[in-house]
Amino acid sequence: MTPLEEIRHSCSHVLATAVLRLFPEAKLDIGPPTDTGFYYDIDLDHRFTAEDLVRLEAEMRKVADENQPFLRKEVSREEAVEIIRARGQERYKLGRLADIPEGEKISFYQNGEFIDLCAGTHVRYSSKLKAFKLLSIAGAYHRGDERNKQLQRIYGTAFANKEELAQHLHQLEQARLRDHRKLGRDLKLFHIDDEVGQGLILWTPNGAVIRQELQTFISEELRKQGYAQVFTPHIGKLELYKTSGHFPYYKDAQFAPVLESDALARMVAENCPCGEVFARLEAVSGQLREQINARTGRETITADRVRPDAELLDGFMLKPMNCPHHIKIFASQPHSYRDLPVRLAEFGTVYRWEQSGELNGMTRVRGFTQDDAHLFCTEEQVAAEVLGCLSLVRTVLSTLGMADYRVRVGLRDPDSNKYTGEAANWDKAEEACRAAARTLGVPFTEEPGEAAFYGPKIDFVVRDVIGREWQLGTVQVDYNLPIRFDLSYIGADNQPHRPVMIHRAPFGSMERFCGVLIEHFAGDFPLWLAPEQVRILPISEKTIEPARALLARLRAEGLRATLDEHSDKLGAKIRRAEIDKVPYALVLGQKEAEAGGVSVRSRARGDEGVLTTDACVARLRAEVANRALPDRRKATPA
Ligand SMILES: [Zn+2]
Ligand SMILES: [Zn+2]
Repeated sequence: MTPLEEIRHSCSHVLATAVLRLFPEAKLDIGPPTDTGFYYDIDLDHRFTAEDLVRLEAEMRKVADENQPFLRKEVSREEAVEIIRARGQERYKLGRLADIPEGEKISFYQNGEFIDLCAGTHVRYSSKLKAFKLLSIAGAYHRGDERNKQLQRIYGTAFANKEELAQHLHQLEQARLRDHRKLGRDLKLFHIDDEVGQGLILWTPNGAVIRQELQTFISEELRKQGYAQVFTPHIGKLELYKTSGHFPYYKDAQFAPVLESDALARMVAENCPCGEVFARLEAVSGQLREQINARTGRETITADRVRPDAELLDGFMLKPMNCPHHIKIFASQPHSYRDLPVRLAEFGTVYRWEQSGELNGMTRVRGFTQDDAHLFCTEEQVAAEVLGCLSLVRTVLSTLGMADYRVRVGLRDPDSNKYTGEAANWDKAEEACRAAARTLGVPFTEEPGEAAFYGPKIDFVVRDVIGREWQLGTVQVDYNLPIRFDLSYIGADNQPHRPVMIHRAPFGSMERFCGVLIEHFAGDFPLWLAPEQVRILPISEKTIEPARALLARLRAEGLRATLDEHSDKLGAKIRRAEIDKVPYALVLGQKEAEAGGVSVRSRARGDEGVLTTDACVARLRAEVANRALPDRRKATPA
């Protein structure tokens, strides 16, 4: 264990010590360190409360102050059983003891009166534990199996010193305030409905505005870079994915195939068992096998998958990736080297099967829309195209105020033979990725063994305002799919050549990216992204008519404006606009209305005084057009 892990793990022992002092009847399971702290799983009829955490933490502090040494004791299996029985901890600890293989050392660690079955290691004295905090209680099934009893898991965190602990707690608090699931609900950005399905995002009107604005922005940048927009359906035939290799190799990460009803009825009539249906879905024709193996030059599809044509069963897949569809668009026409690169972009929706335990708001979902594109180019063009992809990322991230990011270059593992394609091509592609990453002027790491089997890749990791890292999307160079689909272009020599493909979805998916942005901005979106940009607050009944006229004017100017017609006091209206995080509130009193002006309140900068309607409109439109970030430092005098 690292020194920090030792601190955290020793805290689990001290927590268990405190639990047994306050709740002697508690039965203990295990207490390992985690990436950010530690926990202990406890079986106890009493439900732990927040007050219990306070008491337990105080008791832990006592244990730390007692300066107990952690003493290791190696014992035989029989002695171990005796120690466990003597403490009345046989319910879980005997099972944990049985997990230790025969012949391996069995050890206990004792601190003060507490002794626990444990391999170690720990700090030497409990007084080394100076900075810890209990955080929460959660249910956890014994051994993670829902058929077993649910235990109570107490989570805590610990650091080497109080400053680091305070910093971590501050970050946790910030993260809680920024949680996109909470803000998504409060600001009505998206909804997940059990009846629709977990992991499937319903974009409500407010969230849809953000997504649409982002897509428009990204599309504008793509047009500048010579991309062409395409649209493709949400499903495709299984045969397509057998050719690409996505099926059945990644079937665990995909929804099961969709069968044509006729085919399904036929199988039912034949009393065909389920396993056979799947086997036939996964089977290929001898012809397809021959073609793919000939193109790839190796045993890519094995003989055992071949079935007579009459037994083959085709179905459809919910698209797990957009690449095969874009490949078919490229292949639908002959290409000369003069046409290349061909850059096809689509906000393409794909579906992946994530375990329900893995799902999380917008950031882990089962259906998502990638900011996808596929570039078909000559080998000489790879470097320039990868560079183009990176410059797009730079533009978008800097516009969103996410200047702090790093890049990971995934290279092949030189000792592995799982990679397709010529070594010389790999060298070139890897050098292109490296060179492109270097030009970004941001930190990048090379990670051997992290390449896809068909080519190297570049991943983006952004750091948000509170210091958390988010992995976004990727750029991948691919020599493999053009072979499997037998793609070609006619070169200057009048001969057919194989294009190289670049897959790129730099922001991953719109769902994930929006989830990250909600947390990054804490719901305070820049004006161009804000679902509601301006709210008009008439001071009284008397200014409702001019307020309606102003609303019509703002909307005609393309601004997303609303009017607060509630009859309550101005103060209440201002508070409501604050809670809804509306960037601008325009207060309209009779004096302003008669003078053709409004009193402007910026959410970021406070009261900005009275402006004429024309000046106000011009300013808002400019802020939208510039995609300006909310600048809290630029506070102007009231
Ligand atoms: Zn231990
Ligand atoms: Zn792709």
